[in-house]
Amino acid sequence: MKILVVGSGGREHALAWKLSQSPNAEAIYVAPGNGGTAHGMKNVSNINISVGDFPALVAFATKNGIDLVVPGPEAPLVDGIEGYFRKVGIPCFGPSKEAARMEGSKAFSKDFMQRHNIPTAEYRNFTVYEEAKAYLEKVAHNVVIKASGLAAGKGVIIPTSKEEALSAIKEMMVGKEFGAAGDEVVVEEFLEGDELSILTFSDGYTTVSLPPAQDHKRIFDGDQGPNTGGMGCYAPTRIAPQAVIDEIHRTILQPTVDGMRREGYPFKGMLFTGLMMTRSGPKVLEYNVRFGDPETQTILPLISEDTDFAEVLLAAANGYLDGVKIKINPGFGATVVAAAGGYPGSYAKGEEIRLEFVAEDTNIFHAGTSLKGGKVYSSGGRVIAASATADTLEDAVLKAYEGMKAINFKDMFYRKDIAHRAFNLAAP
Ligand code: ATP
Repeated sequence: MKILVVGSGGREHALAWKLSQSPNAEAIYVAPGNGGTAHGMKNVSNINISVGDFPALVAFATKNGIDLVVPGPEAPLVDGIEGYFRKVGIPCFGPSKEAARMEGSKAFSKDFMQRHNIPTAEYRNFTVYEEAKAYLEKVAHNVVIKASGLAAGKGVIIPTSKEEALSAIKEMMVGKEFGAAGDEVVVEEFLEGDELSILTFSDGYTTVSLPPAQDHKRIFDGDQGPNTGGMGCYAPTRIAPQAVIDEIHRTILQPTVDGMRREGYPFKGMLFTGLMMTRSGPKVLEYNVRFGDPETQTILPLISEDTDFAEVLLAAANGYLDGVKIKINPGFGATVVAAAGGYPGSYAKGEEIRLEFVAEDTNIFHAGTSLKGGKVYSSGGRVIAASATADTLEDAVLKAYEGMKAINFKDMFYRKDIAHRAFNLAAP
């Protein structure tokens, strides 16, 4: 099987790594890829086509006999990449443009949840600034303000006062801070609780979930400072017992996939559900229509070597997920992300990254890196990560931090408290 992975982050490195273990994976191309996908993995190479150049990606796939396309990031899915490959008959592991609205429009996904009685925060959608302002002035509960469209994880504001909330909607709707993504705004009830993410394969009917993970979105230890793309992750979480996860599957995940199919846009691909475990039960914070980053780097190493990962993705794309086995190893995974100093604000690029060998069961997944003249250089904010697996969460985290010691670049920065919420939980 020849596979085309679209994207250039840590998620795509992890996808290429896992796909390369499949017995039938003859060649894996990553467009455009990064320093980690450029060399060092069996049958994996980069091709120099950008994520948004659909005609060039289709031309490459047709010419090279690609059997499966795996888009990593949300933007190409929301822009309809799946349809381009459907037209030429190449299976694409990802939802149609219509189904990708679950991530592309938060207003759309909130209305969907309401129609299907899926528990979520109270909300109102607005396209007119004065109406949003009038609502904010009278609403009694604390709110979260969200630009409805894609804003690279930056379009969610958690104001600490009414004034901050009012200025956030003004900046979004009048000041166009997030461009067209802020033309519609969701004003949502603020929920308290612990967050977890569940990644679910779907072929439109069948759903298979991977172990629940917990991301660390804030830049600093203790969950302080601004939000980032994700500074680390661990799985499975201890936040919710298995009975609660099963309940989420029965009352939220399967009804979501069934609801989408019944409304005429079946979901094929990876449905990522972000949930808040509130005192009144789990509530959906958001849907994403692709693998999470860094969740993918944490969870894929937990999928057993007996599982043919390429076959799983192909089965989801072609509608026979029901007949495919996905085996998860016991144990835990942990990922620590190394960022460039200054991220998520401005940061330097082009720093040389020195890498040493890492222990068994540890992977170094590149994100913002590039390979030039046999050397690896930083090229993004989240630069590179260490992921490890072990029998206990404590060991997985320790090993991931050991892995960090193998990475070195100027002004490198990483959180020191990955999985702190799990460690701080009272013993069951
Ligand atoms: P990303 O793409 O980075 O996952 P996003 O921009 O799609 O994020 P959300 O996941 O909806 O946005 O929100 C980002 C974060 O804001 C959540 O992970 C959560 O920490 C916080 N958040 C969102 N909605 C609420 C809410 N109703 N109550 C409390 N916190 C919230």
